[in-house]
Amino acid sequence: MDLTNFRFETDADGIALATWDMPGRSMNVFTNAVMDDLHAVIDAVVADPTIKGCVITSGKDNFSGGADLTMLQGLGRAFETLKAERGEEEAMRHFFEESRRLTLLFRKLETCGKPFAAAVNGICLGGAFELALSCHHRVLSDDPKTRVGLPEIKVGLFPGAGGTQRVPRLMQTGDALQMLFKGEQIRPLMAKNMGLVHEVAGKDEIVGKAKAWILGGGSAVAPWDVPKFKAPSGKVYSPAGMMTWPPANAIYRRETHDNYPAAKAILGAVYEGLQLPMDLALRVESRYFAKILRSKEAAAMIRTLFLSMGELNKGARRPKDVAPTSVKRVGVVGAGFMGAGVAYVSAHAGLDVVLIDQSTEAAEKGKAYAHKLVTDQINKGRAKTADRDALLGRITTSADYADLAACDLVIEAVFEDPAVKAEVIAKVEAAIRPDAIFASNTSTLPITGLARTSARPENFVGIHFFSPVEKMMLVEIIKGDQTGDTALATALDYVRTIKKTPIVVNDARGFFANRCVGAYLLEGHTMLNEGIPAAMIENAGRQAGMPVGPLSLTDEVAVDLALKIVKATEAQLGPDSIDPAQKTLLTTLVEGEGRLGRKNKRGFYDYPEGAPKRLWPGLKALQTNPVDAEAVDFEELQQRLLVVQALEAARTVGEGVVTDPREADVGSILGFGFAPFTGGALSYIDFMGAKAFVALAQRLEAKHGPRFAVPQNLLDMAERDGTFYGDAAARKAA
Ligand code: NAD
Repeated sequence: MDLTNFRFETDADGIALATWDMPGRSMNVFTNAVMDDLHAVIDAVVADPTIKGCVITSGKDNFSGGADLTMLQGLGRAFETLKAERGEEEAMRHFFEESRRLTLLFRKLETCGKPFAAAVNGICLGGAFELALSCHHRVLSDDPKTRVGLPEIKVGLFPGAGGTQRVPRLMQTGDALQMLFKGEQIRPLMAKNMGLVHEVAGKDEIVGKAKAWILGGGSAVAPWDVPKFKAPSGKVYSPAGMMTWPPANAIYRRETHDNYPAAKAILGAVYEGLQLPMDLALRVESRYFAKILRSKEAAAMIRTLFLSMGELNKGARRPKDVAPTSVKRVGVVGAGFMGAGVAYVSAHAGLDVVLIDQSTEAAEKGKAYAHKLVTDQINKGRAKTADRDALLGRITTSADYADLAACDLVIEAVFEDPAVKAEVIAKVEAAIRPDAIFASNTSTLPITGLARTSARPENFVGIHFFSPVEKMMLVEIIKGDQTGDTALATALDYVRTIKKTPIVVNDARGFFANRCVGAYLLEGHTMLNEGIPAAMIENAGRQAGMPVGPLSLTDEVAVDLALKIVKATEAQLGPDSIDPAQKTLLTTLVEGEGRLGRKNKRGFYDYPEGAPKRLWPGLKALQTNPVDAEAVDFEELQQRLLVVQALEAARTVGEGVVTDPREADVGSILGFGFAPFTGGALSYIDFMGAKAFVALAQRLEAKHGPRFAVPQNLLDMAERDGTFYGDAAARKAA
C-alpha cells in the first residue's frame, strides 16, 4: 500500500496499526491526500482476512488539529468558479459532494465491518475528533495536554463530519447542544464522564488498550447502527424532548441574537437528525454544512479568527532580518493594576520577573495578585501548589532600580503622567544594559513623545496591554517614530512567549483599539442624551453582536476614567475635539452622583450585593427629552453602534496607524469584542461592500452628524468597488 501520511503495520495478533504522521508538518491535519490515504487504510483492513481490526493513532505529539481550513476556503472559491462556468445548481451539487467527503469517509470506516479503535494523545479537535467518534472504540491518554473537542463554532462553522449526529447519540441532548455550541476543549476525564470516550490510560498504554479491545472481540457496529437504538434523551417528539427543545431555542437566541447561522444550523441538524437513521441524518447534516460553509459569517470568521490570527501569532509583522531575540528576564515597573497582571503573565510563561514599585511593600502587593490568580487556578483544579511556588519564585520584588540590571526588557506601568513616566524612563535607562529594550504600557500618551525623554529612542517601544491582562488576548505594539526593528522584534517575540496575539500599530492618539472603543462608548452616551431608553441602548449593542452594551462597558472601564480621557482630549486638542453633551453626562455621573462604575458598585448600573446588576433608575431623570421606545428605529441603533466603530477603524487605516487589515480585524475582535460574526471592523465593511457601507454611513451622517462622516480613503475605495483586503494584497504584490 502506498501511503504518504500514515504508517501501516500489522502485528502478530492480526491487529493493524495506522499511525498518522504527515511528513514535513508539526501537526496532522485533514487534506485531500490524508483522506485518500485513510480510504486506502480502510480498504486494506477490509480486504485482508487475516486483519482483525485496526487502531488509528498519531506519530506526533498531538493527534490532529482537524481539517485544514484553507482547504475549506478553497472549496468556496471553487464554488464561485463553477457557478460562473456551469450555473448555480451544478456548482451547488459539486460543492455539496465535496464538502461531505469527510462525512462519507468516516461513515465508510464506521460501517466497514471490521472494528476500528482510536488511540488519542494530545490535541484531537474538529474533524480529527469526528474521526475518533466514528471509530468503534476510543482510548484517550491522560496526558495533561490531551484535549478533545469540536471547536468549529468558533470560526463560524459547525462539526459537519458527523459531529452533530454522533455526539447527541452519546449523551443527553441538552449536554450535546451545549458542547456543540460552546466548542470547548475537553480534558480526558471530563471526556470520559461525558461518554465521549471509552477509556483513559497512560500515554504509552493507549495503543495497547485499543488493541486489547479489538482482540477481546470489540464490536464493529456503532451503537446507533444496532437495531432499536435509543438516543440517551429518547425521541425528539416525547415529553422529555419537549423539555429540551423549546428552551434550547430560547437559549440559542439569547446567546447569539440570531447572528450566527452556524449555531442555528446545529439546532436544525441535531433536531432533524435525531429523528432519522444515521445515513439520512448525516445527509441532513451535510446539507446544513454546505450552506454554512458558503455563509459570509463563516468566510469572515475563518479568515480573521483562524488564518489571520494564526499568521499574526507566528510573527507575520516581525521584521524579518532581526535574529530571534531572547527575553529571559523582564522588569516591570509599577506594580499596580496593570503591572501586577503583566508580572503574572510573564512569570506564567516561565520568564523571570523583577517587579518594582515605589516601595517593596507596594511591589509585594502586586506580587500578591499573582498569588491570588494561581490560587484561583488551583481551586479550579487547573494548577498545582508546586506551580504556584514555582511561579511566585520567578517574581522578585524590589524598590531598587539597580535590580533591573540584568533585564532584557523592561515594561513600565506607572501612573499615566508624563512627568512620572519621564522620571521612571531616566531611572530605568540608568540601570539597564544599553541593548535592553524599554517598553511603555501607556494607553493615551504618544510613544514618540515619551521617547523624547529617552536616551535610546531606538530601543523604546509601546507594549499596550488590555485589562484584565491575564484574560485579554490582544496586545498592541506601538512603533514610535524612532523605534528600531530590534525593539519591535523583541516586543513581538515577548508577546509570543506570553502567548498573546500582537498587532503592530503606528503611534497616534488612542492607538487603534481605544479609538474604536471610544467611538462605541460615545455613541451609547449620545443615545442616552437623545432620550433613548437605556435598556434599549444596551440591547442594541448586544444584539448588534457586541459582548456588552456601551453603558455596561463604560462601567467596566470606569466612568471617571472615561471622563478623564474626555477632559484630557479637550485640554490637548481643543473644545471641538469632544462632545460637550458627553462631557456633561459623565461629569454629572462622576462629580454630581459619585458614580464611578463597577469599581464603586455605582455607575450606569447599580451592583447590589448578591444580585445581578441593573440599570440605575436615576438615568431616566437625566434624560430631559425621553423618547417613546415604540418610536425608536431599533435596527438603526444597532447600525449606529457598529458603523461608528468601523468608520473609526477605516480612519486608522487612512491615517496609516494600522497598515494591515488583518490587524484591525483581529484587534477589534480580541481587543473589544467587535461583533465576531462580521470578522472584525474592516471585514464588516468589506463583506457589506464599501459602496453599501458608505451609503449607510452617509444616511447616518445626514441624520446624526459628522461622527459618521466617511473618510476619504473609504470614499475612494467605494468609488472603485475595492476592499481593504484587496488593497492590502495589491500593495503586497506591488
Ligand atoms: P495603577 O495606579 O493601578 O498603578 C500604577 C502603579 O505605579 C502604582 O502601584 C504606583 O505605586 C506605581 N508607581 C507610580 N510611580 C512610580 C514610580 N516612580 N516608580 C515605581 N512605581 C511607581 O495604574 P494602572 O491602571 O496599572 O495603569 C498603569 C499604566 O498602564 C498607565 O500608563 C495606564 O495608562 C496604562 N494602562 C492602563 C489600563 C487600565 O485599564 N487600567 C489599560 C492599559 C494601559
